[in-house]
Amino acid sequence: MGYTQEEDTLALQKRDLYRLPWSKNDNPIAWLEITDICNLRCEGCYRQKLTGHKPLAQVQEEILFFKEWRNPDNVSIAGGEPLLHPQIVDIVAFISEQGIKPIVLTNGMGLDPRLIRELKRAGLSGFTIHVDSHQGRPGWKDANEAAHNAVRQQYADLIAAEGGLIAIFNSTVYPSTYHEIPDVVRWGRENADRVHGLVFITYRTFDTDVAVAMDASGAQVDASQLGYSSEHFDQAFVTSPQVYQIIKECLPQYEPSGYLGGTVRHDSYKWLIGAVIGSRQGTYGSVGSRTMELAQTGHHLLYGSYLAYLSRLRLLPAMLSLSLWDPAMRQAARNWLGDVIRHPRRLFERVGVQSIGIIQAPDVQSNGQVDMCDSCPDMTVWDGNLINSCRMDEYRLFGGLVSVAEKARMEAERA
Ligand code: SF4
Repeated sequence: MGYTQEEDTLALQKRDLYRLPWSKNDNPIAWLEITDICNLRCEGCYRQKLTGHKPLAQVQEEILFFKEWRNPDNVSIAGGEPLLHPQIVDIVAFISEQGIKPIVLTNGMGLDPRLIRELKRAGLSGFTIHVDSHQGRPGWKDANEAAHNAVRQQYADLIAAEGGLIAIFNSTVYPSTYHEIPDVVRWGRENADRVHGLVFITYRTFDTDVAVAMDASGAQVDASQLGYSSEHFDQAFVTSPQVYQIIKECLPQYEPSGYLGGTVRHDSYKWLIGAVIGSRQGTYGSVGSRTMELAQTGHHLLYGSYLAYLSRLRLLPAMLSLSLWDPAMRQAARNWLGDVIRHPRRLFERVGVQSIGIIQAPDVQSNGQVDMCDSCPDMTVWDGNLINSCRMDEYRLFGGLVSVAEKARMEAERA
């Protein structure tokens, strides 16, 4: 149906990676949607405007629900565009009062120094900022990913000027922008002192030309109502291993250390999480799977929850001590030492980690099943239940998850 993931015969091996121990009830991330209003119209957006801003009381109820049922280390405050919510500062403060890290997921349009300071005072841990070339940003039409680095730079500098906040940049990867990933990765490395992470999310669409959707009763629904549907899409979808491969081409030191598989396929990589070690001057290696395992279990033992966001960029002492335990850290330490011998001044450079994550959007398989992220980290609340946020509009529009079938086959069966 044009959605099927091609077999990937690439270098990734699950046995070399740590399967993140996250689950439905013990997951470092909770996905809180406070509004469905937005000031951009991104091509890959999963949400459309149906209900507007949620009242503060409902938002607080959902936060307490997460606290009880999700055990999150952080709450991702999402939308829509959360900075448009008139009580965004109160929401951040409420999350922080619960002992959970608030992270705002924004397109950055509403960021200004005063608001950043206010949010930080309310307890904000940081921002994940979505910038890509398919958002229709005013004044940026037809600009490619490399040109959009100027937008990323503006936001990174604004957040760095306030200090003490995490800044992660994510972007949707379209078949047409796949080859531009290195431009974003290179920008991220050049800003290693202020960019804590990059995330690449592969684009998905519901092609109404080849597929039909049915509700729980088997009745066909109008899938064109979904914000991410398209009338025709004939390009090959990008997979996580392909994103990994192109990152490796421009940043050979990159290796993921953790993953989440799929709910249907045994061979899919729905989440790949890695962290490169280095400074603005150079990249020395990547955090290995053993360190990832230690970080997850250690954080759980010490703080009672798993870990999704690294809040510190300084790593040198940790790298040296962890190299006893993790071959990947050992290699990074060796590379750093070699670099310092060649350039003694770099002994005083700040060495840190920068995460690079890859998320493969839900894929509809040839049998109509949807391969979702196993132990989905972005679950949200709907009607008193935890559901995958990427499919919430199916609940909002059609009362529940829809199933998918090939249009041609359905028509042949009816004939
Ligand atoms: S299954 Fe969960 S983590 Fe995966 S794309 Fe959907 S909401 Fe995001």
